Amino acid sequence: MPIHVLPPEVAAKIAAGEVIERPASVVKELVENALDAGARHIRIEVREGGRRLIRVSDDGSGIARAELSLAFARHATSKLRSLEDLERIRTLGFRGEALASIAAVSRVTMMSRQADSPSGAIIHLEGGVQTHQTEVGMAPGTVVTVENLFYNVPARLKFLKAPATEAGHIHRVVTRYAMAFPEVRFHLRMDGRDVLQTSGDGSLYNVLLELFGPETCRQLLALPEQNLEESEIPSRAWVSGYVGTPTLHHAQRDHITLFVNRRWVQDRLLSTAIVQAYHTMLPNGRYPMAVVSVTLDPSEVDVNVHPAKNEVKFRDQHTVFRIVQETVRRALLEKGSISPAMLRSENGVPSTIVPSTEVGWRQLAHFGFEAQRTLDGAGAEEVPSQSRLPVLRVLGQLALTYVIAEGPDGLYLIDQHAAHERVLFEEVKRQWAAAVVPTQQLLPPSLVELTPGQAAVLEAERATLARLGFEIEPFGGYTYRLRAVPEMLAIGDPAMALRDILSELAEGGVPLMRHADERVITTVCKRAAIKAGQVLSLQEMQELVRRLEQCQAPRTCPHGRPTMLYWSAAQLAREFGRI
Ligand code: ADP
Ligand code: MG
Repeated sequence: MPIHVLPPEVAAKIAAGEVIERPASVVKELVENALDAGARHIRIEVREGGRRLIRVSDDGSGIARAELSLAFARHATSKLRSLEDLERIRTLGFRGEALASIAAVSRVTMMSRQADSPSGAIIHLEGGVQTHQTEVGMAPGTVVTVENLFYNVPARLKFLKAPATEAGHIHRVVTRYAMAFPEVRFHLRMDGRDVLQTSGDGSLYNVLLELFGPETCRQLLALPEQNLEESEIPSRAWVSGYVGTPTLHHAQRDHITLFVNRRWVQDRLLSTAIVQAYHTMLPNGRYPMAVVSVTLDPSEVDVNVHPAKNEVKFRDQHTVFRIVQETVRRALLEKGSISPAMLRSENGVPSTIVPSTEVGWRQLAHFGFEAQRTLDGAGAEEVPSQSRLPVLRVLGQLALTYVIAEGPDGLYLIDQHAAHERVLFEEVKRQWAAAVVPTQQLLPPSLVELTPGQAAVLEAERATLARLGFEIEPFGGYTYRLRAVPEMLAIGDPAMALRDILSELAEGGVPLMRHADERVITTVCKRAAIKAGQVLSLQEMQELVRRLEQCQAPRTCPHGRPTMLYWSAAQLAREFGRI
């Protein structure tokens, strides 16, 4: 085929494909336009997952009659004049191609009226071609109706999913904007049913309450104010929003919602910063819930990465990463939660449906408590807000596994192994940072024979192990000479301890570089921690609890399991029918 220029209608449809992938993309672009027009109330009406009809009505600034037809021209925009304007862009749109793209692949009607105009104008387009324009009576604002989407692009039509699936995508889009703009009233109606309505009162918390319900919202922590240092001002990023307590976790990352300058974005970097802030607080392979908004000078971020405008690039991504991570971490440490047994349940159902609740169940059942009743009644009002523990008085040991302790306001049941893991983990991390992990020389050194797998891990983690206090020399083949070990492993058989640690690390697959140190530290601490079934003297238990009180995150072990269960005095009084 010789080279030739594509006919305009073919080029238009191809270009449209980048912006309008599915019905939800139409909703996104129209809602963005309404927000850019300063709307305070946006109504979205959808039929058959958006295939048949999408209508977005707003009470924003409207479009001048003379410009109505121009709005549908490709690269026509009122939001930007020059490339430099892109540096300071504060609107959601700027490419001037959404309306053109929508019009190329559907039948569109737009009515619009500016407040100072006595009436509105209405324009109709089919397949990108304007068919007529007339005058119409309407309230100030804009109403865009998109019908028969992709009627002229059979390939796209074929790839659309079931109406319910497309409706789900639309719901998510509207949900995101409702979170990003709590001062705007959103109303989503699907096939005649009101499915989402926000009040527009400006409170993000109220939007979240509307979207996720009280049970989830009770487990959210507001992000704290940040005190930025002078040096950070140039790339200053303000972080706000809510993050879930570690009790709220999901199998996927998609419960993390991110906004940059009020634009919803998909950003691996920021979501990683958030996930890492939960490090050691969540069970392996689980992800937190978060709604996090980053605000920074528009010149610090490039929004023009993709036609769909869902990706951004930061000029100084390291600073943004660090500020987000630190802010989330601080929220978790300052207001971290305690194990789920104490979370309020309103209707007699345990309030969290997360695996850690099951731990509570099993443990309760194990002790002959009547698990169902106890959890039914679990309704502590006061969630101690600080993550640090109060001073506890040890009462005794239960089942050679748990320490029973009394606090100023209730009963604590502490898992001795998990608690000791947490204590060692934090102590070693402090020593590690100061490069002073106490070690024990082995006299004489012991010879350790490793499997090829264990030896491979040893070689890979050599530097980390050395810094932790292991002095290891090759002795030929897979045999090594062990000269010293971290002090905490000196009791028992150090050679066996080393083999256990290497096996455990080997089973975990290839460690992520970023976490390599912490993975090794966690594994060493797990091996060194006292086990369940070990008799503890009162003194030993007191010592353990004292050290746990010193911890930054005493309520979970480094793997994210709870270290303790808690019942408040009020809860106990209720259980015994005293109140
Ligand atoms: P962009 O949003 O990138 O400018 P669009 O194709 O989405 O491009 O819209 C083109 C222009 O039409 C906008 O710049 C704006 O001036 C006008 N416009 C579109 N929708 C609305 C609306 N709901 N209210 C007011 N003006 C609108
Ligand atoms: Mg737009």
